Amino acid sequence: MQVYEHPTFQMACRQFDRVADHLQIPESDCGRLKFPKRSLAVALPVHMDDGTTQVFSGYRVQHHLTIGPTKGGLRYHPDVKLGEVAALAMWMSWKCALAGLPFGGAKGGIACDPSKLSPGEVERLTRRFTQEMIPFIGPQMDVMAPDVGTNEQTMAWIMDTFSMHAGYTVPSVVTGKPVGLGGSLGRREATGRGVAYLINRAADVLSLDLGKSTAVVQGFGNVGSVAAYSLGRYGAKVIAVSDVGGAIYNSMGLDLLALEKYVAQNHRVGGFPGAEPIAHEQLLLLPCDILVPAALERQITAENAGKIQCRILAEGANGPTTPEADAILEQRPEVFVIPDVLANSGGVIVSYFEWVQDLQSFFWSETEIADKLFRILENSWAQILNCSRKQNISMRLAALSTGIRRVYEAKRQRGLFP
Ligand code: NAD
Repeated sequence: MQVYEHPTFQMACRQFDRVADHLQIPESDCGRLKFPKRSLAVALPVHMDDGTTQVFSGYRVQHHLTIGPTKGGLRYHPDVKLGEVAALAMWMSWKCALAGLPFGGAKGGIACDPSKLSPGEVERLTRRFTQEMIPFIGPQMDVMAPDVGTNEQTMAWIMDTFSMHAGYTVPSVVTGKPVGLGGSLGRREATGRGVAYLINRAADVLSLDLGKSTAVVQGFGNVGSVAAYSLGRYGAKVIAVSDVGGAIYNSMGLDLLALEKYVAQNHRVGGFPGAEPIAHEQLLLLPCDILVPAALERQITAENAGKIQCRILAEGANGPTTPEADAILEQRPEVFVIPDVLANSGGVIVSYFEWVQDLQSFFWSETEIADKLFRILENSWAQILNCSRKQNISMRLAALSTGIRRVYEAKRQRGLFP
């Protein structure tokens, strides 16, 4: 489908085609599994603070509606395109199915640079986008959550705009909102916590002592920062982190408490006094036990995959590894890959808990949530590790084929429409 033409969409399709071959899915069934069910592109005129009007492009892609409502993040980034959003929606489908959640995948985005907009401009843009999306979203249709460049406040504006239209408060239309508005305890931390939990499980398998390990994290936003703090709590020494503005390194380990305070004040990692600056490209190549890409897609490529020097590659980001890089990593058994659809699934799992709590208006404690999260992650982990070992296939192929097979079975059971 030409409309989705984008390198990230091509990458998601190549991954799918490989799994379809592995599962021997007939060619005639592949198209409806692969291509999104529906997409909406909208023009969003917004009054700017300087009195001008600027028009932004917004997108929402719902990949499949076979198992329940669709679920997925909303991204604010200058490079957002329909094809990229479609790839992310497809990955959400496999991720939800892998975790056994009753959702199809979705994703949305607005091409904008939120760091260059005032809070008022971001609010007007978000409310306008929500207004355009009203016929398309809802607790039983499509539920948004934060992703790159969006946060709890963005979700609060979406929930408020949708609720004003409905005439009553509808908390379950979004997840990742503030706890006071029906958000779930532990949602903000869920993705990073899950990443660290699975790294701990991989370390067990590899007999790696986390207390003596070193970790490097690319992207110090929601996912990356929480993964770093959680790894620190498991005893790992975090020696380097980065954000869009720069990368920092300290071979003795970064003081994470001091870094947290520094980032809260300065909104960047660059200039942190307890570390030296290094180049972005260098960060991924540092010798370490654990490497967590937690920024954007296509960071580990054919150029650097042969040179990364870690024992565990835990994909906090969606799609950080290209298929060419994957082929190289498959020839490097010394690097254990925890693929994105498994590694970062903690976020959508706790989003599911938030949706359930909102629907029943009955809320759980943080301990209950962490306990339920780790139970689902443990189950996914055991299944994928087992499948990978039994069939002698990579962890990525094991994870993707488990998710895709479940969606395929559901589509066959229901018929042609959804
Ligand atoms: P975020 O906006 O909170 O953080 C992104 C971070 O990456 C920022 O620190 C940014 O400065 C940094 N960054 C951007 N470009 C970079 C580059 N070229 N080099 C280094 N750092 C760079 O976003 P997030 O919610 O933490 O999402 C990060 C990734 O995790 C995305 O791929 C997202 O799709 C994925 N993800 C997020 C969640 C979630 O719950 N938020 C769940 C699953 C997957």
